[in-house]
Amino acid sequence: MANIKIVVEKCVGCKLCIGACPFGAIKVEDKKAVIDEKCTLCGACVSSCKLSAIDFQKEETITMDDLSSYKGVWVFGEVKCGTAASVSLELLGEGRKLSEQLKVPLSAVLLGENVEPIANTLISHGADNVFMVDHPSLKIFNDESYTDIFVQLIQKYKPEIVLMGATTYGRSLAPRVSSRINTGLTADCTGLEIDPERKILLQTRPAFGGNLMATIICPNHRPQMSTVRPKVMKALPADPTRMGEILRPEVVIPQEVKVKVSQVVSSVCEMVNLTEADIIVSAGRGIGDPKNLKVIEELAVVLGGAVGASRAVVDAGWIEYSHQVGQTGKTVGPKVYFACGISGAIQHLAGMSSSDTIIAINKNPDAPIFKVATFGIVGDVLEVVPQLVSEFKSRLG
Ligand SMILES: Cc1cc2nc3c(=O)[nH]c(=O)nc-3n(C[C@H](O)[C@H](O)[C@H](O)COP(=O)(O)OP(=O)(O)OC[C@H]3O[C@@H](n4cnc5c(N)ncnc54)[C@H](O)[C@@H]3O)c2cc1C
Ligand code: SF4
Ligand code: SF4
Repeated sequence: MANIKIVVEKCVGCKLCIGACPFGAIKVEDKKAVIDEKCTLCGACVSSCKLSAIDFQKEETITMDDLSSYKGVWVFGEVKCGTAASVSLELLGEGRKLSEQLKVPLSAVLLGENVEPIANTLISHGADNVFMVDHPSLKIFNDESYTDIFVQLIQKYKPEIVLMGATTYGRSLAPRVSSRINTGLTADCTGLEIDPERKILLQTRPAFGGNLMATIICPNHRPQMSTVRPKVMKALPADPTRMGEILRPEVVIPQEVKVKVSQVVSSVCEMVNLTEADIIVSAGRGIGDPKNLKVIEELAVVLGGAVGASRAVVDAGWIEYSHQVGQTGKTVGPKVYFACGISGAIQHLAGMSSSDTIIAINKNPDAPIFKVATFGIVGDVLEVVPQLVSEFKSRLG
């Protein structure tokens, strides 16, 4: 474990280190620096002390010899609204391929309360076993306790690969875990493969605004950690006859957590369920005015779909960020995606081009969106969409 302490004999209380700490974890009392519990062991203060009065012991780095003791592929079994999040099932599908190439087991890590049925779902979607920690204090996701337990499990069982969904939970958990165990993390991967010779994970993700794909490796540390957005990978169909083991590892459940969840507002996860929607109707700047969003919403309602938006519409304040589709918004893969008055910038395409069918409505016949569209309608969105609404209404009753 990393550790930090003030060498009191050397400290003169000059306070230089206070400004160097980004977490406000240092104060000077009786002319001596004191580091409190806010310290994250980042090490940023060490070089600020001209008298070498800050003794910082880094986490031991894993040596190459140790790397071979790390075995197995793990997927974080995220629980959302009482069920396994679809991204976890997708990652199990991808994890199966990786584990078969490496000839190692595929495990899911499941934290929560009364989650055994979810463990069975994870097995039916490809997990060989599930590390399940079932405890009332884990009922609701908590960054601190989930990180603490995940780190304990990694230190004990040493997986070589850990995959998490690039969801709100996964994006909070993955960096905390990776920094605690001093390993790398590649966020928002779109492709995962095993290097056949070195048996290491090749993690591919868009870089430089989506203009090139970068393949990132983590050769010297373990586990190799990646997050992947929902709908990028494909889940295996559920096989209820699949057998797997539910393991109940002994861990220390953290008792003192700084942040306590007092209430979960479910409307956010239920209403803007873009990543799960089969049909998405998205609005772009071409709708011209925020009041025209109701035309888009109407089409979404008639089709039982969700409303998405381009960043231009979000930045203009016409709709909340939770609706944004694209590189800096959500990645979606519905059966049908309507792009209404959206130009088709590369950053937007990064979030929706894997949709099964793309229907683009744009008054400019040269708009780039038509290059990825399955069907294109050249016309005014405010004329075309109401016609679609009335046609679908009459056909669907
Ligand atoms: C780092 C970075 C990250 C980004 N992330 C994202 C992201 O996550 N998601 C995203 O969407 N963008 C993102 N962007 C912004 C992106 O580059 C575009 O600016 C944005 O997608 C444009 O939105 P738009 O297509 O709605 O608007 P515009 O580009 O202005 O296009 C409007 C379209 O509507 C058409 N139109 C106009 N009037 C009508 C009408 N009456 N009927 C029919 N068509 C009409 C026009 O012909 C035009 O094609 C990002 C940019 C950067 C630099
Ligand atoms: S910079 Fe060094 S000497 Fe000055 S207060 Fe901090 S620890 Fe003490
Ligand atoms: S290690 Fe980082 S968090 Fe801890 S006292 Fe130093 S600067 Fe602050």
